[in-house]
Amino acid sequence: MPHDTPLIATIVAGLGLAFVFGALANRFRIPPLVGYLVAGVLVGPNTPGFVADAGLANELAEIGVILLMFGVGLHFSLKDLLSVRAIAVPGAIVQIGFATLLGVGLAWMLGWSMGAGVVFGLALSVASTVVLLRALQERRLIETERGRIAVGWLIVEDLAMVLALVLLPALAGVLGGQEQADVHANGLLSLPASYGIWGVVGITLAKVAAFVVIMLVVGRRVIPWILHYVAHTGSRELFRLSVLAIALGVAFGAAKLFGVSLALGAFFAGMIMSESELSHRAAEESLPLRDAFSVLFFVSVGMLFDPFSLFSNGLPILATLAIIVIGKSLAAFVIVVAFGYPVATALMISASLAQIGEFSFILAELGVGLKLLPEQGRDLILAGAILSIVLNPLMFLVIDWMKPWLEARAARTAPPADAKPVGPATEPGQVASVASASKEDGPPPKTALAGHAILIGYGRVGSLVGAALKEAAQPFLVIEDADKTLARLKADGIETVAGNAANAEVFAAANPEGARRLILAIPNAFEAGQIVLRARAANPSINVVARAHSDAEVEHLKGLGADTVIMGEREIARGIVEEVLGHKPSATEPSAA
Ligand code: AMP
Repeated sequence: MPHDTPLIATIVAGLGLAFVFGALANRFRIPPLVGYLVAGVLVGPNTPGFVADAGLANELAEIGVILLMFGVGLHFSLKDLLSVRAIAVPGAIVQIGFATLLGVGLAWMLGWSMGAGVVFGLALSVASTVVLLRALQERRLIETERGRIAVGWLIVEDLAMVLALVLLPALAGVLGGQEQADVHANGLLSLPASYGIWGVVGITLAKVAAFVVIMLVVGRRVIPWILHYVAHTGSRELFRLSVLAIALGVAFGAAKLFGVSLALGAFFAGMIMSESELSHRAAEESLPLRDAFSVLFFVSVGMLFDPFSLFSNGLPILATLAIIVIGKSLAAFVIVVAFGYPVATALMISASLAQIGEFSFILAELGVGLKLLPEQGRDLILAGAILSIVLNPLMFLVIDWMKPWLEARAARTAPPADAKPVGPATEPGQVASVASASKEDGPPPKTALAGHAILIGYGRVGSLVGAALKEAAQPFLVIEDADKTLARLKADGIETVAGNAANAEVFAAANPEGARRLILAIPNAFEAGQIVLRARAANPSINVVARAHSDAEVEHLKGLGADTVIMGEREIARGIVEEVLGHKPSATEPSAA
């Protein structure tokens, strides 16, 4: 090699091996993230062979966190965020408190100090942004009420950790560690211990508030203006660049100047952008980078892990894992149910938070640096993180399996089923949450329709199809999963099944056996393909019309059994030709060239 290139080597080894092991995992029907973690262990210092630069891998992973939270922000409005505060704030606080207590308990059994227990417990109490968001995205839950609660909860945890990170150095002396104000290199984040505890808390909260206010007042005007300006230059490259520059710039500025976490900063940048009409394009522009960097997150976690510690530390690791997976889940479940939400919501939130990740590592490092946490504590946190991340997809399977049983129990003991969740989520006029409440009460009820059409998706395409079917007085229903669209369907008086159509229970509720026709008006051909297979299995004679955006997608969907596939771009060309020449084009197929 002509010169030393650690960054390139880390990216290449990280992405390359993650791809190989991700594909292998997929082959064996294991979630790909397990493959990414294995790739990380292999390029990490604890296994022989090539060793990537852990510091660089970590920083690259942070970019993944920024882009993920930015993407989530793009789907959120301030109203969405405020609508879940009544459950997210107490929920996160109770869960953090409970997990910390359990952590202190385990620390005591291991003979550690009180301070060690507090750091350890706090580290076990916060979930990983990357793991949670990817789980929600995979299941198309971000735009549902459950998803919003989980994201709101995550944001409260994030804020609590920002506080913990500035408080620990100030409190280290009291907790029996080494008093030291500038242990972590977070620039302006560290405050002199002389301010006292309340001073440190006050200043930190004031900085967070200042950041939020500046974003809501200045950012809200400036960011949409920049986007509009750039969009009008007509340069796609500049538009992409502006989106990235804003997301990364705001996140970094938030962290450096205001002591807010990178994730929170990025979330706000996204939320501000979501108010601009260009937000959809902004979201799409950041997708490919986001996926690549969030893969590097798992690789960097794998790198930290020493597989041999599993043997030397077996029992304490199991106890740590139990706190993360069982203890935290129980606390979250109990509080969500206590707030009057359905069992299904509580289970989903418990499962998505039953893991730990990046913040836990930062806390562990800080704790060791302050001589609060013994090295063993950091090893336990790392092992607990990797195991809980691997087990997380399994948690979602477990809740699917537990749901019917718990719901039956809840039905026997609970007040009448129409009791709605308390708190602002149920204020009258909030149609969206009413629509989603019904979809979270176990499997959706089966439709009474037969000989009908099932229309999937009610966006730009589906809503026009639906209007035409309604006008032609054809019986049909719509499967849709976005809360806001569900509210519109309700207003239009159209029968709906709420949820992801790729989900077996949701799809079955539309009575595919009795349906005459299936119309797929969703843009994702992979999802559509899965639904076609399911429909064919339920009803071999159902007529399937699907939507596609490329010739390859047309092939894919026809191969899986769709009768007719309408290719969007071809229809657009037809419309244009008709407009220009005044008649329909004779050639409907593209030329072979
Ligand atoms: P558009 O691309 O504007 O036609 O919008 C597509 C619509 O389909 C959106 O309203 C999505 O929420 C909805 N959608 C996409 N995928 C699914 C799915 N798997 N299940 C239910 N609805 C979906």
